[in-house]
Amino acid sequence: MFDKVSEALKSRGFAVSRFGTAAEAAEYLNRSIDNKTVGFGGSVTLQEMGLYETLGSHNQVVWHWQGGPELRREAMTTQVYLTSVNGLAETGELINIDGSGNRVAGSLFGHEKVYLVVGRNKIAPTYEEALWRARNIAAPKNAQRLGAKTPCAAKGDRCYDCASPGRICRTLVVLWEPMTGMETEVVLVDEELGY
Ligand code: SF4
Repeated sequence: MFDKVSEALKSRGFAVSRFGTAAEAAEYLNRSIDNKTVGFGGSVTLQEMGLYETLGSHNQVVWHWQGGPELRREAMTTQVYLTSVNGLAETGELINIDGSGNRVAGSLFGHEKVYLVVGRNKIAPTYEEALWRARNIAAPKNAQRLGAKTPCAAKGDRCYDCASPGRICRTLVVLWEPMTGMETEVVLVDEELGY
């Protein structure tokens, strides 16, 4: 199912790897990343794949979900950075919404290499549809996970473009191409992962 998106990503300059299962993707990442400092963005996908534990056995992994919010800064300067996206268009745009900014910042600068691990549920046919899913599916689910006091967390059905003090959507980043000087690999997984 990844032929179209894979070609689009490659034509934009991203490296692409494809896997049938999350276990195979995790094994690949565990083989590829060794003896490095590794930063994680907040990502249910990475959590579901158990990558903190597997990579942590032979790398120095920094993740604020495991060690507290102050680790966000330390994760900005690791050799390798891993996170996911909220939406991926089959035309190759990678979309992320963030509240604290560390996750999107880590995808933009400061590392030798970035891996973006993307389950099939994140993919939409067009940029507009991928943006819609990021705003109306991923963000409300993340607001619910975080217990945010927002209309989307209360109802769980869509984005209300709220003005709540607890709004989690404070920036939107679209990767059209890999950032200059930073190798970026999209790891496509034919399973539902994260939101
Ligand atoms: S803008 Fe507000 S309502 Fe919309 S998804 Fe973000 S937190 Fe929820």
